[in-house]
Amino acid sequence: MKVLVGGIYHESHSFSNVLTDLESFRDVLFLEGRDSIDQLRSTTSEMAGFIKGLEECGFEMVPTLWAWGLSTAPVEAKTLDLFISIVQRAIEEAGEIDGILFALHGAMVAEQALDGDGYILSKFREFVGQDIPIVVTLDFHANISELMVEKADAIVGYDTYPHVDQVERGFEAADLLVRTVQGEIKPVMVIEKPTMVVVPNVQLTDKEPMKQLISLAHETETEPGVLSVTVAGGFAYSDVPEIGPSIVVVTHNDRAAAVMHARNISNRFESLREEFTPQLSGVSDAVARAVESGNHPVILADVGDNIGAGTPGDSTFILRELLEQKTESAVVIIADPEAVSLSIAAGVGQTVSLVVGGKTDRFHGDPVELTATVRLISDGVFRNRGHMRDGIVEDMGRTAVVESDGIKIVLTEKKMPPWNLEQLRSVGIAPEHEKIIVLKSAVAFRAAYELIAGEIIEVNSPGLSSVDLTQFEYRNIRSGMFPSDEAETT
Ligand SMILES: [Zn+2]
Repeated sequence: MKVLVGGIYHESHSFSNVLTDLESFRDVLFLEGRDSIDQLRSTTSEMAGFIKGLEECGFEMVPTLWAWGLSTAPVEAKTLDLFISIVQRAIEEAGEIDGILFALHGAMVAEQALDGDGYILSKFREFVGQDIPIVVTLDFHANISELMVEKADAIVGYDTYPHVDQVERGFEAADLLVRTVQGEIKPVMVIEKPTMVVVPNVQLTDKEPMKQLISLAHETETEPGVLSVTVAGGFAYSDVPEIGPSIVVVTHNDRAAAVMHARNISNRFESLREEFTPQLSGVSDAVARAVESGNHPVILADVGDNIGAGTPGDSTFILRELLEQKTESAVVIIADPEAVSLSIAAGVGQTVSLVVGGKTDRFHGDPVELTATVRLISDGVFRNRGHMRDGIVEDMGRTAVVESDGIKIVLTEKKMPPWNLEQLRSVGIAPEHEKIIVLKSAVAFRAAYELIAGEIIEVNSPGLSSVDLTQFEYRNIRSGMFPSDEAETT
């Protein structure tokens, strides 16, 4: 048996001004052909799960591509068409295939289609016809559509946020595909969409209210005939009709049971509306609390500039407040290639005048003028350790650590989500020994930093990933969505 495998993964921020082209994927991860299997075999990716599941059954793999980008603006039309053409060519060259096993994100917006993932699956269906099974994995932030459900035979979404179950979900998807190809099961899939939008901060799967929904999904998976249940939180910054959470239930040939279970979970979801309203601290209060705290390090989560959600990583609201409140010791990471160049030109040990951050767009504060001493210069390349992207080499571009009034500012050429402690360790900063660390992330940082944090404070900072959705002009969402813009500042 021959199964086509690959992945095209992009979470698109409709209000970002950062172009998403082929280079954006090459900058993060773009593998073609055999490389897409060999290089991912021992990583924490869905592909590692696909490989394990298919090899155990002696199935042959037909490689295509693995394109993984950071969250930025909707994907350029010709880039998505190129990715799809790589898959089409692989299908033609393989002659006959028995199935498709593919990793998508589920919140891709493309220039040619608001529902980018639905578009991809429609093309795959066109290439292989109705009889070849297609099983896909989706990110927890997928805005799952009717079209995706129609074009795929089964969808398996992550159960975790922060995301740590890519390998297991890849394996689960492989198992469903193998059993479908062997005629053992006949997947039937339905979707329900609660009428609401949920921001990332209240989507943690090991905390309420999401925790009980994931538990309910797992309980439902033990019901007779149920093959897989997905609860997806959705991505609040994609301006698309399918925005928001989804419940997907896959059964063995039992539509009525699938509908019943999906409605049951969807009803529970909607009953938790109030609990899904975020409660965050204002910037000034958060900094004051961090300064007073005796539990170090205090993590200040810069929720409005959550790089993983498509922001520029150069917000200055918290940095400015730290300087104004005369904080004596803190670490802030800011993406600012211009400041990096100036610092490198000055050299280690030298004093430099900088204008830092706030340069990409109007959402992330004004640049901050400061005088700093250059402490360290690095190539910005490091290898992750621990369960978040373990083993993957990251490149944040040339990097300079400068210090101003006790505040260490890690200036990077490229923005890099704070997924792993090795990011700071690679530039000589031991995160466990710091007093305050500002991280441009809403939730994903927890996989690494919860282990060492004395205290975590989520900051209601402005920005492209703010919990205040009223700052965005949505044009495409369906009417009657629960306004999750009622974030309270406490
Ligand atoms: Zn996600």
